[in-house]
Amino acid sequence: CGLVTDDPILYRARVAPGRPALFEIATGRQLTYAELDARIARCAGLLSEALGARRDGARVAMLARNSMDSIVLAFACQRAGAIYVPLNWRLNAAELRPILADCAPALLVHDEEFASTVASLAGADPEMAVISTADGPARGLAARIEASLPAAPVSVDADEPCVLLYTSGTTGQPKGVVITRRNAFFAAINFSVVGEIGPKSVALCDLPFFHTIGLIAVARTTLMLGGTLVVSDRFTPARTLAALADRQRAVTHYFAVPQIALALRNDPAYSAAALAGLHALFVGGAPLTQALIESYLDDGVALVNGYGMSEAGTVLHVPIDRRAVQDNPSSVGLPAPLLDIRIVGEDGREVDEGEIGELWLRGPAVTPGYWNKPQETAAAFTDGWYRTGDLGRREANGFYRIVDRLKDMYISGGENVYPAEVEAVLASHPDILDAAVVGIPDIRWGECGVAYVVVGPGAVATGDEIAGHCAARLAAFKRPARILFVEAIPRTASGKVQKHVLRQFHSDETLQRQAL
Ligand code: ATP
Ligand code: MG
Repeated sequence: CGLVTDDPILYRARVAPGRPALFEIATGRQLTYAELDARIARCAGLLSEALGARRDGARVAMLARNSMDSIVLAFACQRAGAIYVPLNWRLNAAELRPILADCAPALLVHDEEFASTVASLAGADPEMAVISTADGPARGLAARIEASLPAAPVSVDADEPCVLLYTSGTTGQPKGVVITRRNAFFAAINFSVVGEIGPKSVALCDLPFFHTIGLIAVARTTLMLGGTLVVSDRFTPARTLAALADRQRAVTHYFAVPQIALALRNDPAYSAAALAGLHALFVGGAPLTQALIESYLDDGVALVNGYGMSEAGTVLHVPIDRRAVQDNPSSVGLPAPLLDIRIVGEDGREVDEGEIGELWLRGPAVTPGYWNKPQETAAAFTDGWYRTGDLGRREANGFYRIVDRLKDMYISGGENVYPAEVEAVLASHPDILDAAVVGIPDIRWGECGVAYVVVGPGAVATGDEIAGHCAARLAAFKRPARILFVEAIPRTASGKVQKHVLRQFHSDETLQRQAL
């Protein structure tokens, strides 16, 4: 079906033109829905001009921090029939090169901050046009948008892609997830229901727009539902706390990954009063510690955990309800409405309630597959179900728990070990700031665990002491066979532990030892 009005901004501009749509913290600029719509129309005109006949389905990549115009460009791509590809600016040129080779953008828009990265990338494809967001002699994005003629929306089939979202690359190379117009629409509907977002919502987003949570859950949902999106280009505890405490702005929804929620809570400027106006503090993307949930609960703040992924958007979410958070502390809650969820065992059959299996998903928000990767797509889908690669279980009350990633589970002496459980025990040690566990080959047990731990300054815990802490809380087969002290745990931009880096580190170290 041809869909023109799946452009949510077009709709909101007709319904409530004068309502505030966007506010940019860095500049203090704001746009009403009518102004946002007009700017998107001009930006779509710019795309038509810059891409010409190559416009349909062309990829438009962006390497930039969160800004008003990154949202404008995202919706302009949809309006012009192009595909928006937000790039992870935390990656270096060597990491970005394969991504650009994969999506082959016709146009790359970038912040001046990343100009040298772009200079080394642009040479690889002389066909790729480049526009900077900075105004200068070459005229930046903003000036070019203002100088362009508005373009009317093109009619595009709902199953055509509008966004290409690269995964975090936690388990390997990032993969380009194709997000169709239908996927984006239903992912936003799903999040509006679980996140209770509506026209009166004011959502603060300092999570990057290159991940599903920032771009789809926060930005698209808020704008589709007619709320106000407060765009922040970086997270600092002071800036976020000031934005949350600003009663005039009256932020109702704030989104964090666990590490950000922790940094906020531990900041000297933190006060529970700053968060008093929030409808909810959302957190997701990686496991959450019980201590963090409890410390926020003590302040009367419900830290609601959500589980999702680039391939499907929001999948599970704890209801926005203090009791639900309190009663289900390590849960990721209930399924979003427009998703079928199955928990499947190794034999391909659904497991019983309470048993651990892989989460499989189906529904209109679920991607049709990966860009340019038919093999990976075929490997990830079975009979129309997307296999998440995550292990979970459903409790008697219908709430779900995420146990770990299938790839991270290991088998020691015939028993399954879920590193996330061991990590939670390590994290409960007062001296340990961060910890990660990986399974490695072991002659005696098949596999055994190696724990990487980061201790705080002045910590006194020894390896033996930490081993004792684990022994008191974990069955023998779950206890790490080695404990290694490290300066930091390698993480992705969204705070996820890169276990493949740790496994590689371990095998490199073993090789070195063997060579000595
Ligand atoms: P890649 O697919 O490249 O390895 P990735 O899976 O980390 O990277 P994303 O799509 O950004 O890329 O992340 C989704 C994954 O994050 C989920 O599959 C799950 O493993 C993890 N995750 C998301 N939310 C939660 C949560 N609340 N608790 C635990 N894990 C979570
Ligand atoms: Mg993944």
